[in-house]
Amino acid sequence: MNRYRFANYDIDSIELKCLVISRGVKIDKNVYKKFSKTNRLNTNAMTCNCFKLPDDTIVMATDLGFHLSALSSMFSWDNIKLYKYMEDMKTGFKISLIDDEPVLLYGAEIVTPIKLLPYTDFYKQKTSSGMPYMGNAVLQGCDWVAFQCLWPCEYAASGKPCQYCFSGGQFEALARRNKPMPFIPSPKDVSEVINYAIDNCNVNSLQITGGSTFKAETEEKHITSYMNSINEKVGLEKIKGEILLYITPPDKTYVIDNYFSQGASRIACSLEVWDDKLAASITPGKREFTTKERHIDALTYIAEKYGPGKAFSNFIIGLEPLESLIEGATYLAERGIIPSASIWMPFGKPVNGSMKAPDVEYFRAVKEMLAELYTKYDLSPAGNCGLNVCVERDIKKWAEGKQTLSLNT
Ligand code: SF4
Repeated sequence: MNRYRFANYDIDSIELKCLVISRGVKIDKNVYKKFSKTNRLNTNAMTCNCFKLPDDTIVMATDLGFHLSALSSMFSWDNIKLYKYMEDMKTGFKISLIDDEPVLLYGAEIVTPIKLLPYTDFYKQKTSSGMPYMGNAVLQGCDWVAFQCLWPCEYAASGKPCQYCFSGGQFEALARRNKPMPFIPSPKDVSEVINYAIDNCNVNSLQITGGSTFKAETEEKHITSYMNSINEKVGLEKIKGEILLYITPPDKTYVIDNYFSQGASRIACSLEVWDDKLAASITPGKREFTTKERHIDALTYIAEKYGPGKAFSNFIIGLEPLESLIEGATYLAERGIIPSASIWMPFGKPVNGSMKAPDVEYFRAVKEMLAELYTKYDLSPAGNCGLNVCVERDIKKWAEGKQTLSLNT
């Protein structure tokens, strides 16, 4: 794995990925001008730009300039609020052109040259019903297609969104203003997007996710109709990678069995935060309506019935002290459940009043802790060539590299 200089630190690609995701970047206009017609780089924040480090680690590139305007349109924030957060939305990272090639800088220092992914027409497409791909689906890394949030989050609409969740914030804001919830893509829309992504964008894996619902049957209906459509209109044999379902843990286990029989490769019931007190304020709906216990019951059921690595639970890295994160990740890994890790993106969405991203030491400790757990319990997270804001696949690869190195020496 490559190494870089960041401030006074000597860091590797995973640590750099965490720092860039959590701090955002500014991308020079010249970079868009030169590459947006030949590479996957778009000024619309909905496209979730990413780039590759020299060793091919995928990194999300949230351009804070555009992110701010996307936020203001999502939440209808007034200018006073925007000004309040503007100061905290500065970043030292920048992508500029040097000798006509894209380079990541921190301040005036060059961190590393980067690579952009090949151009695709994905974001110009519409489904046969007229649904634009942009804003409803995203390409992630080199081989994933994901859907932002297929159905509304009822927890958020009832005033209990998770504090870090951009979709949840949007549902809450709409409900507060008595505005209708966003359009729900039809199963046919979803299948068409998947077919296009597989046929034209080298995609082999997909993520299906939506908001939490009060009644398990509501979510079950959504997921089942999407899975049926994927079976009929895409065909499981065409999906060479994995289908990940992110679900609200149901109280009846037959629902989980149905999802696996419909073709799910793995299922996530994400706790996001382990510490109970912090979770009650950061993820109020999940803790009050679904409860930690139901999450753990569903995850354990999956791991026991379908084997280690079939269940996973995401943690948002940066929201809680290392001690409780280690406790939670260890508890799950011991039971054959993968603790996965997405990096908190604090800009413009403060959690408990803070938008302060963790430092290098925190990210390094998380990497080492998860690598140890994945190795000890032989857990292999999904991700293929890597996901935009998640690091579990990168950490697994790093752990495997370390093992090979020690076997050869
Ligand atoms: S329950 Fe899920 S969709 Fe709803 S606010 Fe929390 S993370 Fe967002």
